[in-house]
Amino acid sequence: MCGIVGYVGPKKAEPILINGLLRLEYRGYDSAGIATMEKTGIKNVKNKGRVNDLLSMKEIESLEGTLGIAHTRWATHGKPSSINSHPHMDNSNSFAVVHNGIIENYAELKKELEDKGYKFLSETDTEVIPNYIHYFYKNSTETGETKFLSAVNKTCKLLKGSFALEILCNDFPNSMIVVRKDSPLVIGTSETENYVSSDIPAILSFTKNFYLLNDLEFAYLTRDAVTFYDNNLNKIEKSVTSIEWSAAAAEKDGYADFMLKEIYEQPRSIRETIGSHIVTNGTCQFDGLNLSKEYLKSINKIFIIACGTAMHAGLASKTVLEQICEISTEVDVASEFRYRTPLVNDKTLCIFISQSGETADTIAALKLAKQKGAKTIAISNVIGSSITREADYTVYTHAGPEIAVASTKAYTAQIMLLDILALYFAEILGINLDKVELMKKELLEIPAKTEKCLALANEVKEFANKVYKEKDIFFLGRGLDYSSSLEASLKLKEISYIHSDAYAAGELKHGPIALIENGITVVGLLTVPHLVEKTVSNLQEVISRGAKTLIVTNQDLGDKDFDKVIRIPEASEYVSPLLSIIPMQLFAYFISKEKGLDVDKPRNLAKSVTVE
Ligand code: GLU
Repeated sequence: MCGIVGYVGPKKAEPILINGLLRLEYRGYDSAGIATMEKTGIKNVKNKGRVNDLLSMKEIESLEGTLGIAHTRWATHGKPSSINSHPHMDNSNSFAVVHNGIIENYAELKKELEDKGYKFLSETDTEVIPNYIHYFYKNSTETGETKFLSAVNKTCKLLKGSFALEILCNDFPNSMIVVRKDSPLVIGTSETENYVSSDIPAILSFTKNFYLLNDLEFAYLTRDAVTFYDNNLNKIEKSVTSIEWSAAAAEKDGYADFMLKEIYEQPRSIRETIGSHIVTNGTCQFDGLNLSKEYLKSINKIFIIACGTAMHAGLASKTVLEQICEISTEVDVASEFRYRTPLVNDKTLCIFISQSGETADTIAALKLAKQKGAKTIAISNVIGSSITREADYTVYTHAGPEIAVASTKAYTAQIMLLDILALYFAEILGINLDKVELMKKELLEIPAKTEKCLALANEVKEFANKVYKEKDIFFLGRGLDYSSSLEASLKLKEISYIHSDAYAAGELKHGPIALIENGITVVGLLTVPHLVEKTVSNLQEVISRGAKTLIVTNQDLGDKDFDKVIRIPEASEYVSPLLSIIPMQLFAYFISKEKGLDVDKPRNLAKSVTVE
């Protein structure tokens, strides 16, 4: 995920583009860049770091052009560096491109271009785009803007993955082409100037009139016109949408808080994390992760080590790793692991998870595991973060920047990635391949099912509004529902300050049931078919002691005395944690809102815990 802005009009583009980038920094902030059309052609200025680091560059002052494109990056391919920053140009410096998204088949395209003699400067997936545009342009017999348009169109037909693109060409000093597929992009318009942006808020101070582009629609922009084309370059008509948002609402894309926005981003962040790892009727792929069959056969234990929500993601995938890969898997809290002399050696594979990649305890635990001879894999959401530099291997979640302190979209992305890793290991080992194929299909259906879970928000809100004044709320589940209960309970306490605990439902009678009194709220998670009946019995026990109950299930529970049942889409036990947590994130969110709390910045908590 990243932010892109574009401008064409009578004014100097640079201040407008920088203004837009600053508003889009929440989407990415590891590097930034800008290209404007100057009298001498395209001028490209970029830098590692935040937009302010770009602004502090001397070259910025020399940008006078009134046509330009800009980017604030959240790296997916290649570390944050000046070279990897956008805009990217082709070998002849004729085209400049900014890109939001992931080109899944870039390696293949890069090879094709290298065979044609093209050279690559960066490690990004993006750089294939300007070069392929150049290739088609150079070999075209067309003329005028059709030549430019058709080179872009032909290139887009080669791209697999997601992209929102802005493209400049030296031969067309007054125009820009934009196109999108599965990444956001809007066009702001007025009579004398046109704007492009990843979201409406970033350019809302310039115009309230927008064109919304659908997937694979192309727009050709000049200062006084926008012409639209379909994927076969037939002209299409579009009408203007007028937006009446306040500036504050706009910053969050119309959502009241970043947390809510991030909860709703999950279908996309999960889809992007699946990326090109899952290949149906082929084997799962992880570039750069070359674990051999001999190695995987030689290990007798996998440790997943993390803190907080990331540790819960480990718990959600432990069963999958054990049952699909047949390797004993232990999940440990990093701050405990590092001080308890764990039994780790060269027969142990250790997986470390940290959204920010800077979690101090997790990094220390990683160093310890390495000293003891284990192979280490880091899972992080931030390219080039400390944990990725320490580990033997890194795999990235593609959740985009997470701003709200309470993690939501990073959690589901972590589970997704661990699950795919489990399938990848099983494929290398050549075991349980039927189960692997079934689970691949299920994982690919998760983004759409996540959308169905989000559609349950009003039902969740209704119950949340009834119980938001409670002092204690308990969560119960068995098996994988227990690990989801732990995360649901953590989410609630983080942002609502209500005391909350999660129990393995079978443990109830061994103590916690003493806490159940008339009127107390208990949430039951029931998505593991063979355990549902047993958890229902435990819930009957709390109901008979006066508890109010909220149930999240994918099963038909018949006529029971539950106060509210939230029915989520059916899925196998292995993948259900990706779905059952969504209503629970919403539950915590609505309670916090009803209490009037600061959802995004809960008291005493920080986003990235870089101290012990
Ligand atoms: N995949 C591109 C890169 O790594 C774009 C990432 C983004 O959307 O910020 O440079």
